Amino acid sequence: MSVRQQFASDNYAGICPEAWQAMQQANAGSLPAYGEDEWTVRAADAFRTLFDTDCEVFFVFNGTAANSLALASLCQSYNSVICSPFAHVETDECGAPEFFSNGSKLLAARTDSAKLRPQDVRTLATCRTDIHYPKPRAVTITQPTETGELYTLEEIRALSATCRELGLRLHMDGSRFANACAALGCSPADMTWKAGVDVLCFGGTKNGMAVGEAILFFDRAMAEGFDYRCKQAGQLASKMRFLSAPWVGLLESGAWLRNGAHGNACATRLADAIKDVPGLELMFPVQANALFLRASEKVFTALRERGWRFYTFIGGGARFMFAWDADPARVDELAADIVACSA
Ligand SMILES: *Cc1c(COP(=O)(O)O)cnc(C)c1O
Repeated sequence: MSVRQQFASDNYAGICPEAWQAMQQANAGSLPAYGEDEWTVRAADAFRTLFDTDCEVFFVFNGTAANSLALASLCQSYNSVICSPFAHVETDECGAPEFFSNGSKLLAARTDSAKLRPQDVRTLATCRTDIHYPKPRAVTITQPTETGELYTLEEIRALSATCRELGLRLHMDGSRFANACAALGCSPADMTWKAGVDVLCFGGTKNGMAVGEAILFFDRAMAEGFDYRCKQAGQLASKMRFLSAPWVGLLESGAWLRNGAHGNACATRLADAIKDVPGLELMFPVQANALFLRASEKVFTALRERGWRFYTFIGGGARFMFAWDADPARVDELAADIVACSA
C-alpha cells in the first residue's frame, strides 16, 4: 500500500528504523514485565546520560497522559496551572489535565501568542490572592509551541525565574522536544533543568516511535508516587519493554536529534520556496518543523483539489508538519502546487 506522502500531521509518519530495530531486538525471547526489564533500565539511563543529570524517568503511551499526569503531580486539586491559550493541554486534551488532577484548573493567559511571557504569568499569578480563586501552582510551556515557534534559552530562564519568585513550578510540553534541540543547537540539559524546568514531557511518537512519551522529573522529590499515578491512570504498560526499547534505539544512535533536524529542514525548505509568493503569508516564523500558511480560501480549495491534506484549526491558516520521514522531493511538489494554486 503506497499512498502519496502528506504533511497534515507529523503523526502521519511511521516508525523510524532505529526505533523499529530496537523493538525487534526487544521482541527476542521473554523478559520481565512492568518495567523490570533491561530495556527499560537502559532507556532511563540513556535519558540520564543525554540530560547529564540523575533524573527520574517514566514511560507512558501518549502525550495527553504525560502532560496531564505530570501537571497533576505538581498540583493539589485546588491549584491552577497557567498556560498559553494555544496550549495543547488547553485546546486538545479533552479536559484530561483537570480530570487527572481532580480539578486543578487551567488558566489560559490573555495573549494572542503561543509563547508565554513572564508578565503573562505574573498577571495571572498575582491578580487574585483570595480564597475563591484556584491558587496558581504551576506553569506549562510548549517547546516548540503549537505554532512552531521556539522559546530561546533566555526566555525559558526568564520564565523560570518568574516562576521561582512566585512559588510556581515549571512544566515543559516537549512533544516535539527533539525539534527544539535541533533548531536551537543547544543541549537537552541547557533547555531544561539548567534553565529551571522542573518536569519535561519528551515526545517519542512525533520523533519516530510508534507510541510513547517519556516524563522526566529533574527534582526527584516531585516524582513521589508518580509510578502509582501512572498505574491508576491506565498508563503502566505491562510489556513495558516495547515502550522503552525504541527510546534506546533513538537516543543511543543519535536518531532523535537527526529526526528532529530533518523535520525542521523540510519546513525551512518549504518556507524558502514560497515565502516571496504574492498573496501568501507565513502566519508564524518557521523555527521548527511546522509551517502555517495564510492564503485565500480559493488557494486552499485548489490545493485540496490537487490532493493535499491539511488542517486549518489554528487561525484559519493551513498547517504543514514535517516528520523524520518527510521526503524533500514531496516537499518540493507541495511548494510547486502552492505556487501554482496562488497564481
Ligand atoms: C501531539 C502533541 C501532544 C501529544 O498528543 P497525544 O495525541 O496525546 O499523544 C502534546 N502536546 C503537543 C503540543 C502536541 O502537538
